[in-house]
Amino acid sequence: MKCPVCGDECIREAGEIIDMIPAVFARCKDCRVKLLDKRLPPPREGYQEVCACGKRFLDDVFWHLYSLFRREGIFTGKESLRDVGSPLLHPGYPIASPPFLPGRSLVLLSPYPDKAVARMIIDEIPEIRGVVKSGKFVPGITDTSLRKNPRTYELLAGCDVRANVFPTKAGPVVIFQQHSLIHVEFPRAHNPKICSVEDRITKLKPEWFVDACCGAGTLGLTGARWGIPHVLLNDTWYAAAFWSACNTWVNRKFFRIDDVTIHADYADMSKHPVGRKPVLIAETEGAQHIQIFQADLQSLHQVLPKEPVLAVIDLFDKSDRAALGRIIRDWTRHVNGEAFIP
Ligand SMILES: [Zn+2]
Ligand SMILES: [Zn+2]
Repeated sequence: MKCPVCGDECIREAGEIIDMIPAVFARCKDCRVKLLDKRLPPPREGYQEVCACGKRFLDDVFWHLYSLFRREGIFTGKESLRDVGSPLLHPGYPIASPPFLPGRSLVLLSPYPDKAVARMIIDEIPEIRGVVKSGKFVPGITDTSLRKNPRTYELLAGCDVRANVFPTKAGPVVIFQQHSLIHVEFPRAHNPKICSVEDRITKLKPEWFVDACCGAGTLGLTGARWGIPHVLLNDTWYAAAFWSACNTWVNRKFFRIDDVTIHADYADMSKHPVGRKPVLIAETEGAQHIQIFQADLQSLHQVLPKEPVLAVIDLFDKSDRAALGRIIRDWTRHVNGEAFIP
């Protein structure tokens, strides 16, 4: 599938991504390891160039970035190595030791670069696939009342599409997303949300499973991985609905489906970023029926069946218990079955 952000071959089938693990970040015998203290500035010179095997230790890549920031006047030399930004590895999965990065395997989130510096980073540092200007907020929808306009980070250069691999008891699920537009959830060896979904699925053996605030689709596609006959993913945020559709295609060989049809176009969807009434974004053909909608939570019942539905409602903000209670009560007034917060 062509990447809707850069037009390149970023989006791969799940099997291709899973096959990269665990060798993708492993070193060769000549790869140099020099651990740096992330709380301090690195030495002025001396970062390692890329090894003959094509990889380089994460700390050396950050040291290279630090030197570039210093050369371009962004850093004075007093900042710590950690201040450079947050590294998002591609593909992301639970790793036990610091990684050795192959080409184009890291998206950098940083508040510092402008477009010109981001372009230099892409041209000079081969491990970086995209540079995103981050801020002190979470990108995408964080408030279900939709009172606040969603904010996004800005892709400055390269491509910020990358994949995470989430282990589930039914096998891995590969989730691509664009990082300037959706908040990131890191794959961990133990994922409490996935476990809580799997517990309900084993207990209730539902015919219908709904991931009502699906983000990039991790919990909904976990349900599909368990073979539930009818799965519906929904998000009011266009980028979440789009990447859920894309990830249904990415993981399609894990499902009992013949085909995935994506009805929507990413650029067109961005003109209506926050959905209200349900719009069908994608659906599958075959023994298993998976649908992806863009709708607000309150309207989604319009496209749900009369029969019982197991619904996971994974709101970003879980701090207001009273509001969560209201949302669950409102949901169960319209929809048959059980709804839960993971
Ligand atoms: Zn791309
Ligand atoms: Zn090497």
